[in-house]
Amino acid sequence: MTNPANAKDKTPGNATPVKAGDKTPLWTASSTEGPVSVADVLGKQAVLLIFYSGDWTDVCSDELPLLEELIKLAGPLKLKSLAISADSLACHKAFGEQIGLEKIVLVSDYHHALSQLYGLTVDEEGASQRATILIDPAGIVREVNIEPDKQKPRSMAAMENMIQQVREWNGYPGGVVEWKKERLNAMQLRRSRPLEAPTRLQLRFWGTRGSIPVSGLSYVHYGGNTSCVSLTSDTGHLFVFDCGSGARELGQHLLANPEPGSQENLSGYIILSHTHWDHIQGFPFFAPVFRPGNRFNILGWSNCSQTLSSIMAGQMEKIYFPVSLSDLPSELNFYSLQFNEALLDGAKLTGRLLKHPLPSTAYRLELGGKILVYATDHEPLSLPDIKPDSLLGDEVIDPKLVQLAAGADVLIHDAQYSLDEMAEKVGWGHNSGEVAVDTAIKAGVKHLVLFHHDPAHDDRAIDTILKAAYMRAEALGHKDLQITAASDGFALNL
Ligand SMILES: [Zn+2]
Ligand SMILES: [Zn+2]
Repeated sequence: MTNPANAKDKTPGNATPVKAGDKTPLWTASSTEGPVSVADVLGKQAVLLIFYSGDWTDVCSDELPLLEELIKLAGPLKLKSLAISADSLACHKAFGEQIGLEKIVLVSDYHHALSQLYGLTVDEEGASQRATILIDPAGIVREVNIEPDKQKPRSMAAMENMIQQVREWNGYPGGVVEWKKERLNAMQLRRSRPLEAPTRLQLRFWGTRGSIPVSGLSYVHYGGNTSCVSLTSDTGHLFVFDCGSGARELGQHLLANPEPGSQENLSGYIILSHTHWDHIQGFPFFAPVFRPGNRFNILGWSNCSQTLSSIMAGQMEKIYFPVSLSDLPSELNFYSLQFNEALLDGAKLTGRLLKHPLPSTAYRLELGGKILVYATDHEPLSLPDIKPDSLLGDEVIDPKLVQLAAGADVLIHDAQYSLDEMAEKVGWGHNSGEVAVDTAIKAGVKHLVLFHHDPAHDDRAIDTILKAAYMRAEALGHKDLQITAASDGFALNL
């Protein structure tokens, strides 16, 4: 319940929006963590108020997971983050649980009393103006941002500035630039001592199929597991790209072959291109996460209405799988890569979103002087009109990908379809071997690996795609480009 009587004494009136320098009204309301009272919070913590239109509205569903991630990456803070809309508490509980909020508490402003206290208008559908208000621990409003356009997400740069302000009140170094530098290391595994620079890297393919696993005599050469690739080093690095059904075998291998001389439990990074099923379905069968003491930092992109952890928990709900994500005894930390690059045990990881029905992230990983680029699940920007002696242009091949893959030792690229199939399946989010070749040549890649084979393609059909890729490279005068069609079990030393 709100207490406007108490607040009236302290606000200049509810017709005009609150402004910097005003004293905040004091109120109590129901929230997803019980009654919340601003008076109780102040003195100990700053308060961030995030007024939003409503649960499950388009903009807010995308925006709140981003804000949650930003607050999580700010380090321990004396900050109470309250997101406020007119939805009921029951609605808030379901919404908050679905999108995986932990830092942000949802407050029910059922009768718009809170919007009015801060002078925000409410439209005829009952949605408040979207506003962000930062209040310092002394109760003084320090910043107010009211969004001019309800359909547009709030500026993340403005949010960053507000949260950085709180960081500074908490004694962190000044400036967003400093915070960005700090965030580079925020996704790192804590280790008793840093891993040494590697002298040898091994890339290994555990699943190379797209969409759904296949088995049978027609698939014996390339194999039938869905996407999973590991990169390991002689000094203990472990990076796993995607967790399709190939992750089961990788897990068995890791447990059977511990790092020589390793005193620590198994730890590494799981880097997800996206969360389509063929990229996460092997996770519940990845045995290392069932062992206490093992640790994985799981990175991906979570701006699809849910946080990464809640998406991963979804496929392990008891109607789908007997063990829930929260029951796994290993230590799992989830991070979204949307705000920065990351440094992971000395490796630099960069991500770029590519064209796919659910945006998919391509990654560049630089370690030990080698560059690996993993770019599965994406389609060209437009259908290619292949001419024998000229490279495809920027209207077909995303320049972001060419830039990401520049100078790569290995480029793993979606090559699910033949050119004819790709023309029939525009919008399905996949590519052809020919486009992969043009991308590799434009980016100056040394070794191209064709990946994410169609489940409808038997060994012979994949051989044909590989042959077409070689012919394309030769037609472009690059017959020395090394091209491989990935197969389950294929390993490459870098
Ligand atoms: Zn896929
Ligand atoms: Zn996909």
